[in-house]
Amino acid sequence: MLKKLILILGFTVLAFAKYELKPEKISDTVYRFEGALEEPNKANGGNMVNTYWVKGKTSWIVIDSGPSYNYADAAYKAMKKIANLPVKYVFNTHRHEDHWLGNNYFKEKFGAHIYGTKAQAKEYPAGIVPNYSFVISKEDYKGTKVIAIDTFITKDQVLELDGRTFGIKHFDYAVHSPEDLMAYMADEKVLLAGDILFSQRIPRITDGSVEGGLKSLDVVETYDVKVYATGHGKFTDKTAIGQMRNYFLALKETALKAIEAEQDVLTYQNTADFSAFKNMYMMDELHKGNLAHAHKEYEFY
Ligand SMILES: [Zn+2]
Repeated sequence: MLKKLILILGFTVLAFAKYELKPEKISDTVYRFEGALEEPNKANGGNMVNTYWVKGKTSWIVIDSGPSYNYADAAYKAMKKIANLPVKYVFNTHRHEDHWLGNNYFKEKFGAHIYGTKAQAKEYPAGIVPNYSFVISKEDYKGTKVIAIDTFITKDQVLELDGRTFGIKHFDYAVHSPEDLMAYMADEKVLLAGDILFSQRIPRITDGSVEGGLKSLDVVETYDVKVYATGHGKFTDKTAIGQMRNYFLALKETALKAIEAEQDVLTYQNTADFSAFKNMYMMDELHKGNLAHAHKEYEFY
């Protein structure tokens, strides 16, 4: 009986995430919520993404609103203790669901203005039921709605939001996704890089491009940065740049060789030596798909 009870309790605890979010200050005005290094699931509630809060003069500016309405609520309650300010602006770095499903929380509570890409609006028109509604638990997803983006970012530009200046970089070629954004804060030398940068884990590249990834890292290296605010992973130094470049280069080199040797995708997937990356998170989940994508990309390179 006791065993059964423990099992039931254990299952209840694992069935949804009850987001426990602790902000970490990473520069004068920027705070981070750090996500897990794993796939989104019912146990983590999709809390496997880094989101950022920038303290403006009279409000918070949120860079990626996270995986659900309830995540956004938990983040707001934690940030309220640091400064009791409304959220007036929300910035979505790219179209992947884990990064912006908290948007409607800030719209409903504060009427926040939402910036994002056309690629996101195209794939997720307002009202659509996203995949995440099945990936995370009903409890965690409750209240989440896909809403419209208010202003599309379609080119490089400077955004002045509540006393903070953001140099926006718009990638008009596929990098991590068909359209990615970064925001650079020159005053604090913080690069809010979205999923252009990961550390500790490999990225999923099946919605993007290896070549685009390599090109984007050259762009990243042109900035004068003290703090890299990455989409995933804990490091804020240059670690992410090195890890991303090594992985992209290995994909490129092995894919080109495989194609030259007329290897089909399956053989390539089964023989390419990526043992140097065995300690990176998400290899089991994502690497094979990335190899297939690289093979396809370089076939006509
Ligand atoms: Zn991501």
